[in-house]
Amino acid sequence: MTDRRHESDRRSKAMTQKQILAMNAFDMNAANDLGAALEARVRQRAKLFGAASVLFYDRPIEFVRGEGCWLYDADGAAYLDAYNNVPSVGHCHPRVVDAVTRQLGQLNVHNRYLNPGITEYAEKLLATLPAALSNITFTCTGSESNDLALRLAENFTGARGVVVTEAAYHGNTARVTEVSPSSFTNFSPPAHVRVVPAPDPKRSSPGTVSDTFAEHVSAAIADLQRCGVGLSVLLVDSIFSSDGVFADPPGFLRAAVDAVHLAGGLFIADEVQCGFGRTGESMWGFERHGLQPDVVTLGKPMGNGYPMGAVVTRPEILDAFCSTVGYFNTFGGSPVAAAAGRAVLEVIAQEGLLANAQRVGAYLQRELGGLSSRHRVIGDVRGAGFYIGVELVTDSGSRRAGSPSAGSAAPELAKAVINGLRKRHVLIGAAGRHGSVLKIRPPLCFSTANADKLVAALDEVLGEICGPGRAV
Ligand code: PMP
Repeated sequence: MTDRRHESDRRSKAMTQKQILAMNAFDMNAANDLGAALEARVRQRAKLFGAASVLFYDRPIEFVRGEGCWLYDADGAAYLDAYNNVPSVGHCHPRVVDAVTRQLGQLNVHNRYLNPGITEYAEKLLATLPAALSNITFTCTGSESNDLALRLAENFTGARGVVVTEAAYHGNTARVTEVSPSSFTNFSPPAHVRVVPAPDPKRSSPGTVSDTFAEHVSAAIADLQRCGVGLSVLLVDSIFSSDGVFADPPGFLRAAVDAVHLAGGLFIADEVQCGFGRTGESMWGFERHGLQPDVVTLGKPMGNGYPMGAVVTRPEILDAFCSTVGYFNTFGGSPVAAAAGRAVLEVIAQEGLLANAQRVGAYLQRELGGLSSRHRVIGDVRGAGFYIGVELVTDSGSRRAGSPSAGSAAPELAKAVINGLRKRHVLIGAAGRHGSVLKIRPPLCFSTANADKLVAALDEVLGEICGPGRAV
């Protein structure tokens, strides 16, 4: 990359990046206002965990129990969970709890022994993915999955260059942090990383999200080649969650992936956020784009809270890697992990959770869209299934443009809304390069009644913060 482009990249990142994990973080300066008991607990935690400790909300919550889409605090108060995508088949789902408990009481060892539970699970999981991706390696987290995926790609292509989106998050290892712009307050891409704008329809030429995204990716590839770095991989979260949730139009990723393949690179679909049925129409987010990744990375919802992840790829990619270096993960693919994973797949199928995500997700999106006619601050409602983003803006000009500039994005409003909903016992989060997109991704068992409660609470909160709703 030329120095000038590098510098402008750096400046725009400095203006736009938020630390995704710190969005909506509790400010310790407000600890005095919490009341003696809560203040003591918050201070004790800060003393133990120091600067890395982040708590959500102006008034942090202590949960003691979870069930389905609900979390309960010590006083027995129920909170509707529209935020947590790890307990994706529902908090403490009895089938998963039972499967894990029974296996833990019987046997739990690393996966260098034969174990029918692990092979059966691997077969079941691989059957949901494209046939060519026939090898699976188990890990414990999404970060480990992406770390291994990047190493596989670098080994296979012989090149180091990685293309990612501008507010992406892919995990916490050193290698993965380098390709996670949203982890930084000021992101300076290392020499082997190029960032491209998210595939936002409102930032693309009319009707050409696909072409615009492919152009950005192609320019990044050309730059990596010009600088002698070469292209290893395009790594994207299939629903661009931390970039602000971009799902439409279906198929828009294909042209960029074609450009990557043409240049000899690989495509990694990071399914840590949207895998396992979240988008409703299919098990995997990349299917929405009608393409076949070279590597797929899994995590979060895979074990419904039991820590597990995986990398799925073609045998030749894994063979090439293992001929030079081995991979062993002590806890990855243990019999207990396999039991959790198997139970999750069974619950998804038996409870019809894909269909639920599709049906209730579409209903929720429609209802949220309905709110935008009464609240001018809603600039856009978008997503697929149970991954929904609600973009908040400060003025009607950017409302029409849809995608706000830094000046008209409304991160402070998003924070106020999230805290207002918390007061009404509804949990959501924030995303996007300005932190101005409400991130809604409930457990897959979320019902229409749950959706109604969320929409009514949001209507109330927006009315309270921005004045009474009126038609626009
Ligand atoms: N990829 C994506 C898209 C993620 O959102 C995350 C976590 N938020 C990760 C990878 C990393 O997963 P983990 O925190 O389990 O390591």
